[in-house]
Amino acid sequence: FDAILREEGEGSEKDLSAYKNVWVFVEQRENKIMPVAIELLGEGKRLAKEIGVELCAVVLGENISDLAKECIAYGADKVYLAQHSLLKNFTTDGYTKVISEMIQAEKPEIVLLGATHIGRDLAPRIAARVDTGLTADCTKLEIDPEDKKLLQTRPAFGGNIMATIVCTKHRPQMATVRPGVMDKAVADGKRSGKIIDVAVNLDKEDIRTQVIKTVKADKAVVALEEAEVIVAGGRGLGKAEGFQLIQQLADRLGGVVGASRATVDAGWISHDHQVGQTGKTVKPRIYVACGISGAIQHMAGMQGADVIIAINKNPDAPIFSIADYGIVGDLYEVIPALIDALDRV
Ligand code: FAD
Repeated sequence: FDAILREEGEGSEKDLSAYKNVWVFVEQRENKIMPVAIELLGEGKRLAKEIGVELCAVVLGENISDLAKECIAYGADKVYLAQHSLLKNFTTDGYTKVISEMIQAEKPEIVLLGATHIGRDLAPRIAARVDTGLTADCTKLEIDPEDKKLLQTRPAFGGNIMATIVCTKHRPQMATVRPGVMDKAVADGKRSGKIIDVAVNLDKEDIRTQVIKTVKADKAVVALEEAEVIVAGGRGLGKAEGFQLIQQLADRLGGVVGASRATVDAGWISHDHQVGQTGKTVKPRIYVACGISGAIQHMAGMQGADVIIAINKNPDAPIFSIADYGIVGDLYEVIPALIDALDRV
């Protein structure tokens, strides 16, 4: 069931009418916009249109002027560019200070960040500084047609219910959003918008950490959220070694390996591979579910795939209810046959 939580209690009441516009924090790494920011610009545009306000992108870094045009192409009406040598690398202190001061000066009505490592670090600190609430890890955002407040939905109580949270007395309404849940904005290079250079007020003393060296993540870390093809294995594999077969099929299809929680809990594969409510939300072009029953918590993470192919020996497995193509059979017979056929193409 769904729960609607409303903020209650005492608190300094703000003049809510002073708050306007939807802001999206555009996370960038090495001057490249992160996919979640493109998703948020698409979602932010939709929300801004429903309320009748502007969509503003907030970009921090050094030498990032080129990103402003990209943000406009993805739907931003305004881009706040905060450029400074101390913002080149993400630091909790530096980014919190700059964004909090911008919010206090400009008063946005809604502020959205990706629920990435950076977004999860930044958002609660900003919320505390500007004296507002935060709904973390949202999977759905809507505008209440009656009072235009932001309805922020997220899994709660260990994923057993979906809670819709409303920020009634404070502004901005702040949320972090799970990567991969919203559709990406489509770029339109002909759009025009306003670029505002933010006067950054930041000293070395404001930042308590120092970036000494950047170590690139091991390639082996699974990029499930960006994968075009995912071949996922479930308890039907019967043993950890079964994932070798899943990997072989994934290799043939140029995809990556996903997994159900049952296999992660069994220690057959690491949690990086888990798809679902307590794993990753994915949207590949093709999702092949092998020996996965299709529990609601698993489907919550993969039902947005364009094409779902299910292999299961039980014709009544729930996964078939959302599959575009279903193969009823033993995966240890079906997958080698598929690999064999692909090798002959
Ligand atoms: P099973 O449900 O045991 O299904 C195995 C399937 O394999 C069966 O359908 C069977 O017919 C088939 N099979 C068996 N042998 C073969 C064979 N030789 N060939 C072909 N098919 C075969 N689960 C997730 O996946 N992700 C999550 O993020 C997640 N989060 C959760 C959060 C909460 C709060 C809770 C309560 C649960 C969560 N779960 C999650 C667990 C979920 O409820 C299921 O238990 C889990 O998804 C089951 O995994 P499975 O489909 O691999 O196993």
